[in-house]
Amino acid sequence: MDFSGRVVVVTGASRGIGKAIAAQFASCGATVACVATTLAGAEAAASSIGNGARGFECDVSNAEEVANLFESVQASLGVPAVLVNNAGIARDTLLIRMKDDDWDRVLDVNLKGAFHCIREVSRPMMKARYGRIVNIGSIIGQTGAAGQANYAASKAGIIGLTKSVAKELGSRGITCNAVSPGFIETDMTESLPAEMRETVVKTAPAGRLGVGEDVAAVVLFLASEAAGYVTGQNITVDGGLTL
Ligand code: NDP
Repeated sequence: MDFSGRVVVVTGASRGIGKAIAAQFASCGATVACVATTLAGAEAAASSIGNGARGFECDVSNAEEVANLFESVQASLGVPAVLVNNAGIARDTLLIRMKDDDWDRVLDVNLKGAFHCIREVSRPMMKARYGRIVNIGSIIGQTGAAGQANYAASKAGIIGLTKSVAKELGSRGITCNAVSPGFIETDMTESLPAEMRETVVKTAPAGRLGVGEDVAAVVLFLASEAAGYVTGQNITVDGGLTL
């Protein structure tokens, strides 16, 4: 796949899945805007990725910071052709112990953050009559999970958001799809109990946890010109775990 001349914005690009996505885009010629909560984290990722990648600091839950982010990206790199909403957090706890702040923060980053970024990128993409938006969901958004009511609700919301954006922007040459990973080796899953890891390895037909590159491959396809007739879809990347 060739993304030469394309500007790609990846949120949550300092680590894990987002960093793998950003690296794969850069290796296919894209100029990548790596977004993270600290400039140091974003710039470190950008310099390791290369190909003119730049780091940007932004808390995606903050509408004003997101507006400034897209202004800076456009001024320094150009109009984004691709937006990957990958930034995400978890604050797992049983519902009866869940504080309002646990609920609000997870929804604000995972779902509202994606909404903020899509709202900012829509106008320039509509003007260009071209755009690819890929939102990172989770299998938990489809299955639910004890102790993850906030996270599951945010990821289920990503699917509704994705379908609505696909319907709203489709006539302007813009597609919007979701990619829902299963268990991927990152900081987020580092603390998984050993028994749960074993269960995943035994249950998933692929016989292993995923890596960021497994998710990145699907994101790049959906962001490519070849995927122009695919929109409003949610592609599960879980090694067959939820079959
Ligand atoms: P990590 O915890 O490894 O990385 C999270 C990334 O999100 C970091 O780059 C972090 O930046 C960034 N981030 C967090 N909060 C914000 C914020 N408010 N604004 C901007 N950036 C933010 O997560 P993963 O790589 O594991 O997960 C990436 C995505 O994939 C998430 O949406 C997650 O829900 C989803 N996912 C992950 C799965 C897994 O098994 N790992 C499974 C299913 C879905 P910083 O370094 O600055 O904190």
